[in-house]
This record gives sequence, structure tokens and C-alpha cells, in this order.
Amino acid sequence: MSKFYVTTAIDYVNAAPHIGHALEKIQADAIARHRRLKGDEVYFLTGTDEHGAKIARAAEVAGKEPLEFTNENAAHFQNLKTILNLSWDDFIRTSDRKRHWSGAQKLWLKLEEAGDLYKKKYRGLYCVGHEAFVTEKDLVNGKCKDHQKEPEIIEEENYFFRLSKYAKEIESKIKNNELRIIPESRKNEILSFISQGLEDVSFSRPRKDLSWGIPVPNDSEHTMYVWADALANYITAIGYADEDSRFLHWWPVDLHVIGKDILRFHAAIWPGMLLSAKLPLPKEIFVHGFITVENEKMSKTVGNIISPVELIKKYGTDPVRYYLLREIPTADDGDFSYRKFEQRYNGELANGLGNLVARSAALGEKISPIEFDFKKDIETAIKKESERVFAGYEKAIEEIRLNEALGLIWELISFSDRYINNKKPWELKGDALKQIVVNACYLIGAVTNLLEPFLPETAGKIREQISFSDSKIEIKKSAALFPRFEKQL
Ligand SMILES: [Zn+2]
Repeated sequence: MSKFYVTTAIDYVNAAPHIGHALEKIQADAIARHRRLKGDEVYFLTGTDEHGAKIARAAEVAGKEPLEFTNENAAHFQNLKTILNLSWDDFIRTSDRKRHWSGAQKLWLKLEEAGDLYKKKYRGLYCVGHEAFVTEKDLVNGKCKDHQKEPEIIEEENYFFRLSKYAKEIESKIKNNELRIIPESRKNEILSFISQGLEDVSFSRPRKDLSWGIPVPNDSEHTMYVWADALANYITAIGYADEDSRFLHWWPVDLHVIGKDILRFHAAIWPGMLLSAKLPLPKEIFVHGFITVENEKMSKTVGNIISPVELIKKYGTDPVRYYLLREIPTADDGDFSYRKFEQRYNGELANGLGNLVARSAALGEKISPIEFDFKKDIETAIKKESERVFAGYEKAIEEIRLNEALGLIWELISFSDRYINNKKPWELKGDALKQIVVNACYLIGAVTNLLEPFLPETAGKIREQISFSDSKIEIKKSAALFPRFEKQL
């Protein structure tokens, strides 16, 4: 049994979660579930990033204390566990003083010990919306192009982290796959960025401007800036502060799942911090793309933000998991539309999977329970096709092409349909009928096992209708897995 530690990025709690947040968590969930089924000891971590001037201002506008405000918003993210059927083991909040603050401060002291933190005057354009310094090229007509706001000119003393010192080492570890970046295009992107050298990074802000955050140890005038605070969650959650054996058990992380917008932070700043603190680097970083809605960027201004809560109310959890994992190419951008959602729902879930299970259960129920001999009764062509699909499926998941793994399951579903259509079991009786039902149920058993990490609830429902073991099948028909949507939206 090997250990497998997987994380998502932690979400900033200034707004409610949308389907982009859902996508990343469902991807990580499918991978975690797949590992558990293979017998690995899995630790799946997610959480929320709760500090910063933007949160403090939003709380003030809402007439609340920052922690009161983030308690409420973090709850929306925690709620995703139930509504999306996510199997995370832990949820870290950066406002957690006991676990997170103490761990982040310990990490800070390690960087200081290594001589990698120094104070420097910094003058720059600060965008509150970004919660970061921006450069002239981020501006259009003097305003931040993302936030339509003029940045403030700020001159202040910051602590800087000597990231420049580690550029060569990070570059070589990414090149030789000690730190693997998936997909290859993202690996090339970060390598080309690092090859130009890395600049030192601002790691603190004056306490008077940023009071909602973790105090810099031994310097009450400064608060940790986002990198020093948020990235540390991956180690603080597993006991970096004071649980040595637990920390050593889980670290290094096996897989960080992140979005393409935070690649630089995870593949440059974070490895630099770990090298400075003399900790092993992550083994793998997987980078996914973004979801557009009807080919437009989701935004408050456009008013096209899709909430996972709305979607599951209408369609249920597994159809939402299915759409996000199948329609969106795992490592790329993808699109959401209700039309496409209902096409996939009706075509692949209701007609494809749902229909296969329903017709097989209808055929077999009258002769259930069925005893059979695995070696003798399962046809060679059927075993062969299942094995082909299984091998491709394992490889696709290993390489984090989850949409392709699902595509292969649907190839097996189509194969099963063709098998039944060709054999015409509705014209048969006795042993001839039994033979076809046994083989169809074998295929459904294989499909169910492969579906489990992706659509766990559906896998359970299929097993309630068709329970398949090495020598016996029991069939009990019940309601359709996915009732058809008659009206197109
Ligand atoms: Zn901005």
C-alpha cells in the first residue's frame, strides 16, 4: 500500500463558488477515489484562502468582522462536499491559528534562517482588486484592465524572498521531472518563464495596510503577504507546525491540482520556498484550464456565473460531475452550456448508460438469480474488449486525461449495446437467454467498476439493480437511473 497525498488550490472566499471551483475539486476527487480503489492510503486536502486587504474591505462593507465574514463564506465551499459528493479528508482554512498560523510562521523562520528574507523599499502600483502590485502593461487608460480601477501608488518597506537564488535549481528539477508538470505545454510554459531568471518576491506588507493576515514572526510591523501565507497550507494541514511524524508520513505531496492562472506561484515560488526550508519538492503538479459559459468568460459584470448549487438542484450530483469531467478536456479550457449539458445528459446518461442497465435488468430479472461459471460462460471477445478498455482507462487516469477515461467507458457501453442488439436475447429462452444475460451483466459489472471514481452514486445504484460476483448474478429492476429531459433549455 502506498500513500497518495493530493491537494486542490485553496479558494479565495470573497465570493460564492462557481462551476470553475467545482471542476477542480471534482477532478481531484475522481483521482483520489481511483487511488483509494487501487488500495492506496489517500489524503485529499482542500480549503480556503481567507486573508488579505480585499477580504478585510468586503467584510467592512458587509458590516462584519473579517473572521465572521470568512466563516460564512468558507461554509459555501465546505458545503460543496455534500452537494458534489466529494471525498476530501481535510479542509484547511488559512484563518486557522492553531494549525495554519503556527505552521506558516515556522516556515517563515526557516526561510529567514537560510538567509533568504531581506527588507527592501518597494514602490509600485497596487491594485486592490488584484490584491497585488501590477505593472504598466496591466493597465488600460491608467486603470487595471481586470478591475477597471486606478491602482494606488504605494511606497513601502517589504520583506523580500530571495527566489532568484533558486531559479537554476528549480529549472533543472522541472526539466528532469523530479518536479513533474502536467500537461507538457504547461511544463514548457513555466520553463520558458524561469529560463529568463526569477526575480525576488515581496513576502510581506506593512501591518497598517494589511492587518487581516498572519503576523511576521518577531516583527509586529509586518503581515505575511499571500505567498508566504497561502502556499504554506499544503504543509500546515498535515502537521508541519508540530506533528513531525504525521508530516513526514505525508510530505512530499504526490499531486497538486491547480488552475493555469496560478502555475507560476506553484511551479516557481512554492518550490523556491521549499528548497529554502530544506523540504522535498512536490512530485507532480497538474494544471487544468478554465470553463467558459457559452464561450464567454464567467464574470459578475456579464452576469453569467453558473453556480454548482443551481445545477445539482436541477440535474442531480452525478450528471454535474459527468458533464464537468467529460465535456471539459481535463488539461484544457472547455465550455459550459445548458444545451450541451442536456445533450450529454439525454444522449449518454439517459440513453447510453441508463438504457443499457434498464434493458439488461428487464431481460434478466425473470431468470434471476443466475449461477454461472466465469471461465466457461464469459465470451472471449467480451473479456478482450473489457481488457482493452481497462488498460486504456488506467493509462488515461495515470496521465490525468479523465475525459478520455470516461470516453473509454462509453466505448464499452456502446459495445455492450451492440452485443445485445446482435444477439437478440428477447427472442431466446432457457440456456441461450442465460448466456446473453450473463455476458451483458459482466459488461455492466465492468462499466460499474470503472465508473466508480467518477460517478460513485450511480455505481452504487447500478449494483443495487445488477449485483455481479464471480459465480452469481442477482437482478432487481428499479427506477430509471437518469430520467430523460424532454424539453431543451
Ligand atoms: Zn486589478
